[in-house]
Amino acid sequence: MSNVSVTKGVRDAVPTADELVVLSDVNKHFGALHVLQDIDLTIHRGEVVVVIGPSGSGKSTLCRTINRLETIDSGSITIDGKPLPQEGRELARLRSDVGMVFQSFNLFAHKTVLENVMLGQIKVRKTDKKEAETRARALLDRVGVGAQADKYPAQLSGGQQQRVAIARALAMGPKVILFDEPTSALDPEMINEVLEVMQQLAREGMTMVVVTHEMGFARSAANRVVFMADGRIIEQASPEEFFSNPRSDRAKDFLSKIL
Ligand code: ADP
Ligand code: MG
Repeated sequence: MSNVSVTKGVRDAVPTADELVVLSDVNKHFGALHVLQDIDLTIHRGEVVVVIGPSGSGKSTLCRTINRLETIDSGSITIDGKPLPQEGRELARLRSDVGMVFQSFNLFAHKTVLENVMLGQIKVRKTDKKEAETRARALLDRVGVGAQADKYPAQLSGGQQQRVAIARALAMGPKVILFDEPTSALDPEMINEVLEVMQQLAREGMTMVVVTHEMGFARSAANRVVFMADGRIIEQASPEEFFSNPRSDRAKDFLSKIL
């Protein structure tokens, strides 16, 4: 890892070999809109990074560039020391190394819950069917929806569907999972059941990038909070430090509106 960037702001004492996702001077435009500006961000193995910031600040785009749902205009992104692949089988492998959980669940509506969790394992990981099923059932049990395995997504509550989506991401054996507002589409009474699964993953050492407005989760599970506004990382700090002593006016203003 020679081209590792210097992380702005805090830097915890984790050795370089533990750098799993490294964004270096990343820039991206949508037409005239400069949606990601000079982004330097390093995610260490086992780290839980919560990304917060006003709507439109580029949080979703940041997540989407990390698993190459969006291309970047300049800069570099490496996963486990390797640059993001451009296409083909390498890209499919990248997508299974970098799991993604969306606000809108994105389950396959015409597949059962079990099939949703088996599919990627069979198609991308080339796992045999029996093994994929065993693993899928175990993961569904782990997120508390084992009894729903043979139902279709529409027969489940939002909280259950999102837990299936997490099981589906886990089934690929990802190195990191990106969560983009995973509880924003849920009824309030279902938010905790999803956050609890995420808390459990965090405790087990999963590397996670979580875009969320759930500040309770950020306080209890995050190693680091990254605050974005207008396509830039404005500041980053431990949750204790960030919430008690935000340095930028943008962060102070944002926190005064949501807390
Ligand atoms: P956030 O997730 O922080 O709300 P986004 O990353 O979704 O922000 O969006 C950042 C900005 O980029 C917004 O102004 C949004 O309208 C714009 N944007 C996002 N996706 C696209 C796209 N595919 N084409 C054009 N503009 C987009
Ligand atoms: Mg978003």
